[in-house]
Amino acid sequence: MQQLQNYINGEFISPISDEWIDNYDPSKGEVYSKIPRSKQEDVELAFDAAKQAFPEWSNTTLEERSKVLLKIANLLQQKLVDFAKAESKDNGKPLSLALNIDIPRAISNFEFYAHALTQFGSESHESVGKNTINFTLRKPIGVVGCISPWNLPLYLFSWKIAPALAAGNCVVAKPSEITPMTAYLLSEICIEAGLPKGVLNIVHGLGNEVGQAIVEHPQIKAISFTGGTKTGEHLARTAAPMFKKLSLELGGKNPNLIFADCDYEQMLQTTVKSSFANQGQICLCGSRIFVEESIYEKFKADFIAETEKLKVGVPSEASSDLGAVVSETHMKKILGYIANANQQEAKILTGGKRVEVKDHEHGYYLEPTIIEVQSNRCQLNQEEIFGPVVTIIPFKTEEQALAMANDVRYGLSATVWTSNLDRAMRLSNDLEAGIVWVNTWLNRDLRTPFGGIKDSGVGREGGFEALRFFTEPKNVCIQYKR
Ligand code: NAD
Repeated sequence: MQQLQNYINGEFISPISDEWIDNYDPSKGEVYSKIPRSKQEDVELAFDAAKQAFPEWSNTTLEERSKVLLKIANLLQQKLVDFAKAESKDNGKPLSLALNIDIPRAISNFEFYAHALTQFGSESHESVGKNTINFTLRKPIGVVGCISPWNLPLYLFSWKIAPALAAGNCVVAKPSEITPMTAYLLSEICIEAGLPKGVLNIVHGLGNEVGQAIVEHPQIKAISFTGGTKTGEHLARTAAPMFKKLSLELGGKNPNLIFADCDYEQMLQTTVKSSFANQGQICLCGSRIFVEESIYEKFKADFIAETEKLKVGVPSEASSDLGAVVSETHMKKILGYIANANQQEAKILTGGKRVEVKDHEHGYYLEPTIIEVQSNRCQLNQEEIFGPVVTIIPFKTEEQALAMANDVRYGLSATVWTSNLDRAMRLSNDLEAGIVWVNTWLNRDLRTPFGGIKDSGVGREGGFEALRFFTEPKNVCIQYKR
């Protein structure tokens, strides 16, 4: 059975403890590889390597750093199919999704920051009367920590690593222990691309061991984290007394506001995607659907019909619209929410059950599920389920839709479907979310700030925001004689 290795100081090494964790193929419910169960001592090795590499890496020219990042992107492009297959097997997502979204986006992340770093400027302020000029130096922080989740494994891992390296930092990174494979394969590519040893170190293991050791490390001064809100709270508590810089991209419970004046067909097709893409395991999925009363019954019938056309199946088959959810624990959690629906006067309109897929009977497959709820205050509308489960509820007025959309602890994204420009502008202003999509969904321009408000996180990724996060600004004030 394949044993993944840590990537520390440019080399593949086993965890010092020689302990290993089972890695599952969710499409079969079977262990198919082992990953290092690293500990604090392995993080220490990675930190030492990163610290040693930092002076030289931070002094490379922008062009040198840009070239290495582009080389990584090119090598990923050459191995796109292998990476997509590995991602699909490790995560359970349809191969088509990994081929068209996950890996291409990981490539774009490296390409984007290879270019962005050459365009990144800083401010200067001239005070003519006082004969002074202020300018801002942006220095890399040193050794930084990057911790990512399982839902978009390489996509989100590279979304952190690329800007951290571009800004001149050295990195100790931890992918999710549930989906470690493509991060491991990325280490091979980094070696091939000639990334100097120690610049990037990938330590595999459990969150409360490796992740915790990274966050607790007194000399790792910035942490970029994507994951659950509860973990984010814990991280913040640990890191705050050490005054670490924190970027936290956390959970969501995104509203989807559908008005009668929208382009109905486009809305319907996109809503099916925003509900069930990646088995609903995208932090940006619209899981609370609010529909204007006058089209509610029509939407309900059409949405159920379109959802029932979706095929749940083996991730590697081109005909599968949904693959398996990521783990047995996660599947049980989702089924638990569905089982509670009755107690909340909610009605399952379609789905709600586990699917048995031929020759993959132990895989973690679930039907795409639509639940009609009576109130936005119910558990199904207030807690993040993070699976192929959405709720629908009618509204009478724009004010009522807005109030329900905002009545939740999260604030990651929101989607509005309307052809009324005034309404689109009003809601874009008033929705409590880091991203508002109008008549579109998951339409991402990497230059834009990405992140949430309320309990969906602190800070922004994307564009120059990430380069700002991964650098320390230093003001220099010079007075000169005339
Ligand atoms: P998680 O919080 O369980 O784990 C995320 C990462 O943190 C993993 O690598 C895990 O090992 C690590 N971790 C766990 N405990 C830790 C600790 N004590 N110290 C340091 N690291 C620790 O989240 P998950 O289940 O992997 O991912 C799903 C969650 O991620 C969902 O809530 C989803 O909404 C969220 N998410 C958010 C975004 C966003 O951009 N806002 C994107 C994707 C996923």
